[in-house]
Amino acid sequence: MTRRRAIIAGLLGAVYPGLGHVYLRAWFRAGSWFVLAVVTVAVVLPPSMIEAAEAGGLDAIIAASRDLPMAVMVVITGIRLLNAIDAIWLALSASSKVAGSHEGPTCTKCGGELDPELEFCPWCSTEVGASDASA
Ligand SMILES: [Zn+2]
Repeated sequence: MTRRRAIIAGLLGAVYPGLGHVYLRAWFRAGSWFVLAVVTVAVVLPPSMIEAAEAGGLDAIIAASRDLPMAVMVVITGIRLLNAIDAIWLALSASSKVAGSHEGPTCTKCGGELDPELEFCPWCSTEVGASDASA
């Protein structure tokens, strides 16, 4: 469940910076990322794009976005990526705090909790007995 939550948060963050954090209810962090994204876009975006947005609306934005310089795309993609990573990290660290009471080994394939009695994952039936169980 933890991993799924982290993946959803990461995907949302990749779609729009801050969205993954909203999903995680990390409101302050969501707001910070949102502001950072807006400010960065405002800084790196060429004036022609902003003019197009003001004049022509969504169609003009899409048309102008095709002509965006590579550097702008890299910066925007970088923010999305960092945001997604931060959302995933937050989801994983938050859940590890909550689930600290029953910290057990988890399946390396599906992330499900493993039953020490079983030599295979009860969720996806992957064999786990053979691997080193140092935990
Ligand atoms: Zn599994």
